[in-house]
Amino acid sequence: MSEDCIFCKIVNGQIPSKKVFENDTNIAFLDIRPISTGHTVVIPKKHYSTIEKLPDEEVGNLFKAVKRVALLLHEKLEIDGYNIVQNNYKAAGQVVEHSHVHIIPRNKGDRKIELNVPKEGASEEQLDQVLEKIMA
Ligand SMILES: [Zn+2]
Repeated sequence: MSEDCIFCKIVNGQIPSKKVFENDTNIAFLDIRPISTGHTVVIPKKHYSTIEKLPDEEVGNLFKAVKRVALLLHEKLEIDGYNIVQNNYKAAGQVVEHSHVHIIPRNKGDRKIELNVPKEGASEEQLDQVLEKIMA
């Protein structure tokens, strides 16, 4: 637990939440600033700042919970699809430093989230340069 963490406070009941799922290791609750109706956040009950800090077993538990909640939202909210978004560090838009996964319901044509995919692909050389750095 981390004292100043809003998600830890949700886990221990100090802050109320609209819970949609809970088991021994994880909880999921409705995001209070939803991008779309049913936007849900899934978190580990233990405090880890980013995905990198989660023990492998906790990663497994987290994504098992994500799958269960995704199925639940898909069935019950009659949505066309959903995005699973997991931000790490401020540069990537992480606001709460307690690792979490967003499940964002989508409907055809809602334009709630759009990936900025460039029209042109990278050159073979650019891809090789990146690959070299990663694999070095
Ligand atoms: Zn926390």
